[in-house]
Amino acid sequence: MSRQVYISGKLVPAEQATVSVFDHGLLYGDGVFEGLRSYGRKVFRLAEHVERLFDSARAIRLEIPLSPEAMAKAINETVAANGIDDGYIRTVVTRGAGTLGLDPNRCSDPQVIIIADSIRLYPKEFYDNGLELITSSVIRNHPAALSPRIKSLNYLNNILAKIEGLKAGCVEALMLNHKGEVAECTGDNIFLVKHGQLSTPPLDAGILEGVTRNAVLELARDARIPTSERPLTKHDVYVADECFLTGTAAEVVPVVKVDDRIIGSGKPGPITKDLTDRFHEMVRR
Ligand code: PMP
Repeated sequence: MSRQVYISGKLVPAEQATVSVFDHGLLYGDGVFEGLRSYGRKVFRLAEHVERLFDSARAIRLEIPLSPEAMAKAINETVAANGIDDGYIRTVVTRGAGTLGLDPNRCSDPQVIIIADSIRLYPKEFYDNGLELITSSVIRNHPAALSPRIKSLNYLNNILAKIEGLKAGCVEALMLNHKGEVAECTGDNIFLVKHGQLSTPPLDAGILEGVTRNAVLELARDARIPTSERPLTKHDVYVADECFLTGTAAEVVPVVKVDDRIIGSGKPGPITKDLTDRFHEMVRR
């Protein structure tokens, strides 16, 4: 069965799923997207992802030519049409084809694209033994320039930090905000554990409100782990007992070294492991 991609309101074979070279999504990164996961054919936190997609679109004054309900239905249909059980879904909404100028009012037809794929995981070793990070010299976008709350098609800020991480042999990189506080990683949110307390940067640190972040905060509260969303510094990271990242693709992944400093015992910690187990249970509920 050839892969089916949703575009312009219908499912078509992947080779026929094309957009115009005049699409401002391509010309200017003018658009928004979501990354979702399905577990056993069921999309995890579908409503939350659809809401964030519509919020991102609203923030850039892009009108999505579908209702949230129709979007959720189209995502489910794309997963089903591709026979995906455990998979990754990418939803993209572009500003549409326009002229060569910036003016979004000259774009006529926003494109809604949904791709369902099998998931390519980080190697198991990262989950068993933990990741190493560096702190990138690239600061996260200033919220007054381009809010990190918007999951836009312009990911250059994150890509530049990712390149720096990869050059240093790290698959993820820590990004600070314009105040020098910890923000997030290039495609993941960050959590610390110190003296049994879980903490993660607040939304106003200039981060994406991760769906996985929110799920892990819920799990921590259920597990009666004291939790706070508060400004964190690099110092807090270096002296943490445990550190882990969350994201749709990565799920929950431990971090054991940052800027060549060993975090905690240098091994994934007990609270990280407990929350990882709870997360795996939650996604299949
Ligand atoms: N921060 C950034 C910058 C991201 O792109 C993502 C998504 N890949 C996340 C955090 C994690 O968000 P979620 O848990 O919703 O995937």
